[in-house]
Amino acid sequence: PACRFTACALCAKFGAMSRALGFERGSLRLPCAYCHGPFLVSLLAFVLAPPGRAARLYVEDDPVAILGGDTLKQTVRNSSTAWLVQFYSSWCGHCIQYSPTWRALAGDVKDWELAIRIGVLDCAHERNFDICKEFEIHFYPTFRYFKAHASVDELGKTYRGANRELQTVRQLMVNILQNHTRQDWPVHCPPLGPARSDDILALMGKTAEQYTALIVEDEDSYVGREVILDLVPYRGLTVRRALSSDKAITEKLRISTAPAAYLFYPNGSHGALDVPKRQRFFFSSFLKLLPGVRRKQTASVQDPVHTLNKGDEATMKDWKEFDRSKVYMADLESGLHYLLRVELASHHTLEGEELVAFKDFVTVVAKLFPGRQPVVKLLETLLEWLTSLPLEKIPYDAILDLVNNKMRISGLYLTDHVQWVSCQGSSMTLRGYPCSLWTLFHILTAQAAQRPDALANTALEDDPQAVLQTMRRYITTFFGCQECGKHFEAMAKESMNSVKSLDEAVLWLWRKHNQVNSRLAGAMSEDPVFPKTQWPTPDLCPTCHEEQNGLHVWKEDMVQVFLKKHYSAANISPKYSSKLEQLDIKAPPAPGSMDKAPLNNQGTEGDKQAHEDLPKKGKRSDPKDTMEEARNSQRDPRPGVNFLGLGFSSVDMSLCVVLYAFSCLFLMLMFFFFRIRSKRWKIKHSRPYV
Ligand SMILES: Cc1cc2nc3c(=O)[nH]c(=O)nc-3n(C[C@H](O)[C@H](O)[C@H](O)COP(=O)(O)OP(=O)(O)OC[C@H]3O[C@@H](n4cnc5c(N)ncnc54)[C@H](O)[C@@H]3O)c2cc1C
Repeated sequence: PACRFTACALCAKFGAMSRALGFERGSLRLPCAYCHGPFLVSLLAFVLAPPGRAARLYVEDDPVAILGGDTLKQTVRNSSTAWLVQFYSSWCGHCIQYSPTWRALAGDVKDWELAIRIGVLDCAHERNFDICKEFEIHFYPTFRYFKAHASVDELGKTYRGANRELQTVRQLMVNILQNHTRQDWPVHCPPLGPARSDDILALMGKTAEQYTALIVEDEDSYVGREVILDLVPYRGLTVRRALSSDKAITEKLRISTAPAAYLFYPNGSHGALDVPKRQRFFFSSFLKLLPGVRRKQTASVQDPVHTLNKGDEATMKDWKEFDRSKVYMADLESGLHYLLRVELASHHTLEGEELVAFKDFVTVVAKLFPGRQPVVKLLETLLEWLTSLPLEKIPYDAILDLVNNKMRISGLYLTDHVQWVSCQGSSMTLRGYPCSLWTLFHILTAQAAQRPDALANTALEDDPQAVLQTMRRYITTFFGCQECGKHFEAMAKESMNSVKSLDEAVLWLWRKHNQVNSRLAGAMSEDPVFPKTQWPTPDLCPTCHEEQNGLHVWKEDMVQVFLKKHYSAANISPKYSSKLEQLDIKAPPAPGSMDKAPLNNQGTEGDKQAHEDLPKKGKRSDPKDTMEEARNSQRDPRPGVNFLGLGFSSVDMSLCVVLYAFSCLFLMLMFFFFRIRSKRWKIKHSRPYV
């Protein structure tokens, strides 16, 4: 088939570029494989990726401190300044959209950094998985503030306000500072409370070494405190504030409107400050330009900013060619890895609603995911374990032990690296996990429609909304992008209950996904190489589209057929997936292996390593190797195996088995003993009645 630039959404989007390259709009015929395929994608990625978007969300040049797993604690704990840190995720659309505000805020309060600093930490970076878990970051963005001199186990306080406008957060910073006590007050932060009238009036007519500026303002105004903080890095001047309700000051200085600024000169003279507008910027700028007022020559605050790793840049060199008409197992497994080992792992324990949501999720995935054997077996084992232990509260570490196969059960494995293929983005901050999550749930709805009996005996079998409701619970309970969760919940509330069949469930999710696509089109989280379109595009499914009275309409019966085929097991490509064919058991990742994981989200290096490791660990069939391993395991200095987070040693496990066998034998013996005795007793005491 061929497509014209005009008829193709992707090409239309890049029509300008094509014209710039010398192609006439509508005149160029290209085979679709080229139009939408890897060639064009790579070409567009190369040509269009703007330099700023090819890196992480925040870069060294930004006025924020880029924190990481290795610097966060030492930076924010026992610091001479307070900290406000945004824990974000580079795949979270809201974090992407919020980043200009955060950057602008950091620039706006740059002069405050001797009192309070702004930081960021990317929880989607493999290097930071552990620290985000330790700091219990469940949603993105999470704003945590740390007082100065915070203790060594401080996890910070979360700002939960819905308003994240620049001015609101700036005022929050002022409040954070004012919440300090005299003992833990940040070393270089001047007093922020209103000055006593006696102290101010005593300045009148007195010579001094430096200026004193007084901002007179209403009680709810922040201008005075903001000006005080703006002038922190300047010498030759002290800034104080007074309230307009302080009549002693306002009457003596003849101040009738607030805010107002008053200046006491070093030579003893004084007078009102004459600025064009009574606003923070005008007050601060005027004061900074006073003769004799200079920036302090202090060494800049010790900067914990990370030098960006080389692996963070330029993902295009790791570009993987792929076919848009296929689904990739590597995306699905990477998504499951991220979901089970990172997103859920930020929850220390699962109980109540969370546990129910998790159990339902595992049930649906274990029963419907058309994955590779070791992954499915892992999910089934997890499900079996969850259903056999009717616990009300489960420590997530126990689940992680199972996911990491700490018991070394043969044939269980889930990749421990991300490897995005059709979910890869033109930059590290784009696509990836949320793309894989959508894909996973489309697969699950399609599978449920194709195999209606798959959920038999799970208590979910008779519910046509089973997959959708499970997804809904997962998204609202665990999905790190809280705003996305809220939007999804609103859509679910509106119409999910109207879904009456498994086929309708497939279409409902497709419709809602397209609704999200349309809302996000043109947003900052949109990957320019993968613009948000109404999907499937005509090149993928020509029969899904129709025009009626000049208007585009979907042929939903065709879309239904297409979705079931596109998201069928047969359409999942194993290309780029981690190699499993020789795998029998996979040892748990070594402690700290997350830290050593590749720093780019393509995971190629890590996977190479994993591939190199596999044959060694997988050669179970060779008896010589098995013997050798058995001997090695005897030499293993580790006392035992950490089983489901309960810390059983292998001796404990052996004892359990012996005790179990012994108990069975004992019970059997007792059974036979009493049976024989009762028979004998019956014979002895039997009275034949006639
Ligand atoms: C439940 C949920 C809610 C979200 N809400 C928000 C939000 O409110 N704000 C925000 O900024 N981000 C949100 N996101 C993230 C956002 O939707 C994208 O996942 C993210 O921007 C990455 O986009 P993408 O280009 O990889 O394509 P995605 O939208 O992630 O799609 C992944 C793949 O699914 C296929 N696909 C696309 N559309 C459809 C469809 N209609 N039916 C079936 N398959 C389709 C395509 O092959 C596509 O490549 C949400 C994610 C999820 C999982």
